[in-house]
Amino acid sequence: MKAEERLSFLDLTEQYKNIQKEINKAIEGVLKRGKFILGEEVFRFEEEVADYLGVKYAVGLACGTDALKISLRGLDIGKGDEVITTPFTFIATAEAIIEVGAKPIFVDIEPETYNIDPAKIEEKITNRTKAIVPVHLYGQPAKMDAIIKIANRYKLHIIEDAAQAFGAEYNGRKVGSFGSAAIFSFFPSKILAAYGDAGMLVTNNKKLYQKAKKLRLHGATKRYYHTLYGYNSRLDELQAAILRRKLRYVNKWIDARRKIAEYYNKSFFDLKNEITIPFTHSNCRHVYNVYTIRLKLRSVLYDYLKKEGIPAAIYYPRPLHLQPVFRDLGYIRGDFPISERCSKEVLSLPIYPELTENKQNLIIDKIASFIKKKYRE
Ligand SMILES: *Cc1c(COP(=O)(O)O)cnc(C)c1O
Repeated sequence: MKAEERLSFLDLTEQYKNIQKEINKAIEGVLKRGKFILGEEVFRFEEEVADYLGVKYAVGLACGTDALKISLRGLDIGKGDEVITTPFTFIATAEAIIEVGAKPIFVDIEPETYNIDPAKIEEKITNRTKAIVPVHLYGQPAKMDAIIKIANRYKLHIIEDAAQAFGAEYNGRKVGSFGSAAIFSFFPSKILAAYGDAGMLVTNNKKLYQKAKKLRLHGATKRYYHTLYGYNSRLDELQAAILRRKLRYVNKWIDARRKIAEYYNKSFFDLKNEITIPFTHSNCRHVYNVYTIRLKLRSVLYDYLKKEGIPAAIYYPRPLHLQPVFRDLGYIRGDFPISERCSKEVLSLPIYPELTENKQNLIIDKIASFIKKKYRE
């Protein structure tokens, strides 16, 4: 393979080349000002994100996982409480629920979107249920209308896990503004990518906002006066400086991702009996943080692509209810059949704004030749 055709699942170096001057200048600015914790860059970035999303408040935190914990703690969810979420997500979603002392109650997903199935939520609600945490998986919003209806009926909080869905829209409105709180991650593989760990909590609730600001500072109300058990969880000033500059490009990058996804979709049309392409509801704007197909011979294709030098990924090979660490929750195989089936059939392909059409064609050709060989001969 020629050097320019060498493929990685995610390549952030191309993007850096395009914005190098601005990024370097932003970093240098922070170094010269010499303020590294909760400086001007963090506060400006918080305002800019709140503006972008159409929410009142944003709190910059060390990572998305902390944002989940701080949302839960900020809404007084803890010991004895139950929180409904999906088992088909990154472990952080459930980990944070357990970390604050509450219990994750899983609800299976819709096979089309891989998001929590609202029709299965109600049967899991008890008098201990305090919140629903929908995950906008891969960058596609969960069915918020139905989830909001249930939350209102039972007076539950909604905390959107929008870690993969920065900029995604539902009914023309950005995700992050539908619940009591929402969380974003700026981990390098996400839509808006820091050069390290970073995260954010957003909300329209002033009390939650004020509490979250204390929780990220060891529960301090003023200096060395602590009213809450808190965390050390600040968004780093250097990362904030970087993210502020990148925010200016994020719409362009999302458009590029959507174009790449469209091209994959079009190219896989001839393979539609073997490969299921991502389904999107017409009222959703999917941002394709991850582009995921589904097929019966997933594992065979994954191995084949690996051998051919095409990197692919599996999000996620084991649903959370079957993770050894969550054994005590008492779930068994068969509890969430759709999540279990999808974990065996999903395959995610490279997608990032700078992925060239040549590289994309290479990936598509390999998959097409695999399908012809395995299914059609
Ligand atoms: C990435 C991710 C998180 C956690 O974010 P970090 O910044 O890595 O802590 C939480 N939930 C989902 C769905 C994620 O993809």
